[in-house]
Amino acid sequence: MEDLEFVVGEGRCGSCTLCCRLTAIPELQKPLNTWCHCCEINKGCRVYKTRPQSCRKFECVWYKKRDLLPELRPDRCGVMFEKLFGTNTYLALLSSENSRAWHVPPVKTAILGLLESGAVVIVLIGTGTEKHLLLPIGKTEEEVIEELNSILPNYYPGV
Ligand code: SF4
Ligand code: SF4
Repeated sequence: MEDLEFVVGEGRCGSCTLCCRLTAIPELQKPLNTWCHCCEINKGCRVYKTRPQSCRKFECVWYKKRDLLPELRPDRCGVMFEKLFGTNTYLALLSSENSRAWHVPPVKTAILGLLESGAVVIVLIGTGTEKHLLLPIGKTEEEVIEELNSILPNYYPGV
């Protein structure tokens, strides 16, 4: 498209634009699991240079970690991992039609690896009505929820 300013995460994203569907973008009143109206699906962002702060702060684990398996690219495995800034907590976002993708390798293996490393994983499906809090050994739910309560509203109000 001529008006396309940039692909979402440049070359490494390929034709994946899944973050522009799965994430919530409060500045655009975009809820979880809805395509952003600025997204050219499978191509990129039409407003990349002026995209909102939430898009700028967003950290896609696939994009950041260069040593991950190619199969873990979000549009291939159906799960997009996001690291919450300043925490050892990861969101695993899935669309409702792919709600079982987190039970299948290599995603399942990746989740187990994160838990073994001491990280917390929150699985959010669709609009967030289905969610699962996965805890590493030694962490209690109360402890984690207290920590997350101060963080999550900034990312995903109502989750
Ligand atoms: S989900 Fe990750 S890999 Fe896919 S377009 Fe967004 S930043 Fe790129
Ligand atoms: S503004 Fe651009 S980067 Fe942000 S969600 Fe929409 S299409 Fe994606």
